[in-house]
Amino acid sequence: MTESSDNTLQCLIIGSGPAGLSAALYAARANLNPVVLSGMDLGGQVSKTGAVDNYPGFPDGIEGPEMVTAFQQQAERFGAEIVFDSATEVDLSKRPFKVTTYSGEYLAETLIITTGASVRELGVPGETEFVGRGVSYCGTCDGHFFKDKDLVVVGGGDSALKEGIFLTRFAKSVTIVHRRDELRGGYYLANKAKDNPKIQFVWDTIVTEIIGDDTVNSVRLKNKKSGEEEIRPIDGVFIFIGHIPNTDLFKEQLDTDDQGYLVIDKHMHTNVPGVFAAGEVGDPHFQQVVISAGMGAAAAMEAVEFLEEEH
Ligand code: NAP
Repeated sequence: MTESSDNTLQCLIIGSGPAGLSAALYAARANLNPVVLSGMDLGGQVSKTGAVDNYPGFPDGIEGPEMVTAFQQQAERFGAEIVFDSATEVDLSKRPFKVTTYSGEYLAETLIITTGASVRELGVPGETEFVGRGVSYCGTCDGHFFKDKDLVVVGGGDSALKEGIFLTRFAKSVTIVHRRDELRGGYYLANKAKDNPKIQFVWDTIVTEIIGDDTVNSVRLKNKKSGEEEIRPIDGVFIFIGHIPNTDLFKEQLDTDDQGYLVIDKHMHTNVPGVFAAGEVGDPHFQQVVISAGMGAAAAMEAVEFLEEEH
């Protein structure tokens, strides 16, 4: 691969989840000397996940943070450089692309965006106020604070089910509150949750307020069908109601869909030649570690081809 004459990178990767680190591995092995801007959390959402049981090659599962370290070491082994910094501004109007970070500025011939998605908040009174004092978005991070406590989990998708099951390791009871009478999550996790004696479901119900003094002590629930309200004493609320793609940086410059996800083709190309995206930032549908990693590899291979075609 031809080296740039100035400090321009061949490939800059924004984000360090499975997509970013996998892109880094592939780009490094193709001698692009990629730099990865890690963002606030090296490893992204996986770094806050417990056991990952559905990544091929790990028959006994692997803990999220352990997986991130392995991804990182493998990418670094081939020369990827991981920088603990975040992009604050991008200029994709011409090449080389310009990316401003908290500590400087990068120029890059190709860009791979793997900024992932962030947790969606409920937006009810008490939620922000009690974050860290009974409100959480991460069972792995905070579950151990709730030994023998009664918890509410909000959501009906795989995350709510998986985290709800995980939380029964600590909690006395886990009540999953879902706004419909049918789960969105898949068969396997749904059955596992339904079979767990510590888990109960409250259907057709939303949390309208989180109440407490120093810490959370109850939630106000409202049945959507009957309109009935109830104040339920609990010790903690875990919220898993989906994600919002991290695409603010690219607004007006890259095409997004109606939910804000980057629009990419099956080769991970965005609408700007030389800018690729991979993982959850461009994947509203699957949102799986193995798929994000595969998308990252594909994006890097396309970046290699893009540069080769120019020389
Ligand atoms: P999700 O599938 O989008 O589910 C979000 C859940 O939150 C839905 O049940 C939704 O209700 C509910 N919800 C959304 N907004 C709400 C609000 N304002 N108030 C109350 N409830 C609200 O998100 P996810 O569970 O995070 O999963 C994301 C993706 O990751 C999915 O593709 C999932 O399969 C995957 N995943 C897989 C695993 C695994 O181990 N296989 C684990 C975690 C996640 P409705 O159902 O009514 O829309």
